[in-house]
Amino acid sequence: MDRQQEFVLRTIEDRDVRFVRLWFTDVVGTLKSVALAPAEVESAFDEGLGFDGSSIEGLSRVYESDMLLQPDPSTFQLLPWRGDDEPTSRMFCDLKTPDGEPSASDPRGVLRRVLNKAADMGFTCYTAPEIEFYLLRSSELDPQTGEPTPVDYEGYFDHVPGGVVQDFRRTAVSMLEAVGISVEFSHHEAGPGQNEIDLRYADALQTADNIMTFRTIVKEVALSQGIYATFMPKPFSRQPGSGMHTHFSLFEGDTNAFYEAGSEFRLSKTGRHFIAGLLRHAPEFTSVTNQFVNSYKRLWAGDEAPSYMSWGHNNRSALVRVPLYKPDKVQSSRIEYRGIDSATNPYLSYAALLGAGLKGVENEYELPPVEMDDVFAMSSAERRAVGHQPLPTSLHEAIRQTEESEFMAELLGEQVFDSFLRNKRRDWDNYRVEVSPYELRTNLGIL
Ligand code: GLN
Ligand code: MG
Ligand code: MG
Ligand code: MG
Repeated sequence: MDRQQEFVLRTIEDRDVRFVRLWFTDVVGTLKSVALAPAEVESAFDEGLGFDGSSIEGLSRVYESDMLLQPDPSTFQLLPWRGDDEPTSRMFCDLKTPDGEPSASDPRGVLRRVLNKAADMGFTCYTAPEIEFYLLRSSELDPQTGEPTPVDYEGYFDHVPGGVVQDFRRTAVSMLEAVGISVEFSHHEAGPGQNEIDLRYADALQTADNIMTFRTIVKEVALSQGIYATFMPKPFSRQPGSGMHTHFSLFEGDTNAFYEAGSEFRLSKTGRHFIAGLLRHAPEFTSVTNQFVNSYKRLWAGDEAPSYMSWGHNNRSALVRVPLYKPDKVQSSRIEYRGIDSATNPYLSYAALLGAGLKGVENEYELPPVEMDDVFAMSSAERRAVGHQPLPTSLHEAIRQTEESEFMAELLGEQVFDSFLRNKRRDWDNYRVEVSPYELRTNLGIL
């Protein structure tokens, strides 16, 4: 029993905790939870908790279904939304095989592997997400428009006096803080009912755990206020989608490896290679960062979502951006990836993004020239001339590019690679045979 495990057991006793939830995610990023009686926690630490992995999307094949949940004591937290009467807590888990080896199908394990590689290269990886989502009146669609109904019709940075959104953000932010997730900013976004909450940077694994907790808290708080929160990438055809721009920084000890005084955008060689890695591998990992049919409606409808592979600093059409809010503050030097959306599996996405960036660093990929112009305003010939390739235009195209990617096969490992692609192909196959309202509207009356 190590010190962290002892601390957890002591807290459970001191606080009279009634339930300990063990959390993990499937390959899509759905949160899974099993509640444990406090008396069982010690043996879960020692031996893991057995469960049937074959019943969880993408975890294991039926003939090797026995798996173990190994609770990570550093993630122990009391859950404030359950109230104080029956204190409830949670721990994230790593997945193990029955002989105690890390399971090859664990998304958290995929990210751990990349972070270990980064550590071998001398880097600690920090990430900070800007999470966008919509608040709706309910999960029901308006029968007239066939669309959801937003809670308000305000826009970017609007202050909504006395509105439901203010109560919502206040409660959500204090609840996030109560579970140790630091919030830097929160504001109304451009779409009706659309909001954004930006988390403070943290170690990449911790951030991925935080995103899973964030989604749960946001959904719980919304429900408790009689509204509904969605992380769907593009719930309205004619309103902006919900992105999850993520800021990356690599540190070597206390030194920000992306910073170099006097160079263009104060960006070091490491930073330049990292961006080059993101740009080169983006088409291969987009099926992961943008994993649903609906994700491509966001990427290809404008509204500041990136569609082409370019980088810039003050350019909202760029896929990768070097923000210059505080250019001389060494520690805040970072790289923002804008493609990823709010419905992603954060473990797999951060593994892919960091893996691609590190590959660029390792192999010293060369960075194409910076793009100062609006990429959307260019003609396709102009874009071709400067080499801005498009991101995949559909889930189908994205799957195809991942299938052919050696980088992704190696990054995810055979098991996650196969189960992820199987899941995505099924999504696409279901979608492509469905007759949509658009077709009915435009084709029913013709000929
Ligand atoms: N909603 C936009 C997106 O989908 C981002 C808008 C913004 O934060 N500038 O990426
Ligand atoms: Mg923002
Ligand atoms: Mg935003
Ligand atoms: Mg941003």
